[in-house]
Amino acid sequence: MEELLRLEKLSVEYKVQDGYLSAVKDVDLSVNRGEVLAIVGESGCGKSTIAHAVMRLLPLHNERITGRILFEGTDLTQLSDAEMIAIRGKKIGMIFQNPLDSLNPVYRVGRQVEEAILLDGKDMATAMRETEQLFADVRMPDPASQMQRFPYELSGGMRQRVMIAMMLSRYPDLLIADEPTTALDVTIEAQIMDILTKLKVERNTAILLITHNFGIVAETADRIAVMYAGQLVEQGSVYEIFAQPAHPYTEKLMQALPRQSKEEGRLETIDGTVPRLTQVQPGCRFANRCPYASETCRTQDPPTVHAGGTHYYTCHTRKEDR
Ligand code: ATP
Ligand code: SF4
Repeated sequence: MEELLRLEKLSVEYKVQDGYLSAVKDVDLSVNRGEVLAIVGESGCGKSTIAHAVMRLLPLHNERITGRILFEGTDLTQLSDAEMIAIRGKKIGMIFQNPLDSLNPVYRVGRQVEEAILLDGKDMATAMRETEQLFADVRMPDPASQMQRFPYELSGGMRQRVMIAMMLSRYPDLLIADEPTTALDVTIEAQIMDILTKLKVERNTAILLITHNFGIVAETADRIAVMYAGQLVEQGSVYEIFAQPAHPYTEKLMQALPRQSKEEGRLETIDGTVPRLTQVQPGCRFANRCPYASETCRTQDPPTVHAGGTHYYTCHTRKEDR
């Protein structure tokens, strides 16, 4: 599989009142063309920070980034703003949890997608035809009449379809979907995830799916990266992670994982609290919640262990020795 995106030792710190907050620390990760990589973890673990770093949408003057973000071999951290604008939207698209934030309230939704198509130099008749086809592709009933509506006239699921259609119109190689279905009910969530999966298969689009919901990961992703307090603690194929979770944090998440409804598919809270990210010391950030923690865990950064295949975890203890 051809690699599209590679994060190398990516770290992001935000300037806050009492110093710098380490939101993402030394993350190594890659996404191949045509695959779905899900980044999973509790709220505040750094998932969105990674997405925004790749899109270069972090708050200006507030952050410190180190490491490399290689997209088709080019380090995005080194590009000028103009060069980045050419990549953002065209080669890398993003959809957010709340599409209303991204849609213009005073324009009909069809017009907004047409505008995106016109950017490619196509004429208006083509843009209208393609918009109608895109609305059909994202399974909007009666596409022609939906195009005439304003964002406020649509349900959350329909708005998310508009956003996906707008993004599809630019044919991006990589789609970043940041909690795309969190605001939707479980039936609509399944439909939106179906659309994204189809996109992956038909257009060979890579998808970086950001979620705290293991339920949709199991059905949608090819590979999983589990984050905890800004660090990548485990990664592997869906099968490897679900069958043999190796990091103590992932093990706990899996034990807490059930079963049917949308609410139940969310990650359960586990005992203890995440360390304050402004006061992180060397050592494992999970140590205060881990039943296997030793003095070494509290003082030394854990090594990355190869568990076979594409499966890696970051821990001082081996799964087989616990
Ligand atoms: P959620 O699922 O709640 O969106 P997340 O896993 O996406 O969480 P991030 O939003 O990336 O996590 O946040 C990571 C850490 O960085 C958190 O501790 C958060 O409070 C902090 N953070 C995020 N944005 C900023 C900012 N602009 N300034 C300061 N701290 C920030
Ligand atoms: Fe637990 Fe130590 Fe592994 Fe961290 S490094 S997860 S504290 S065993």
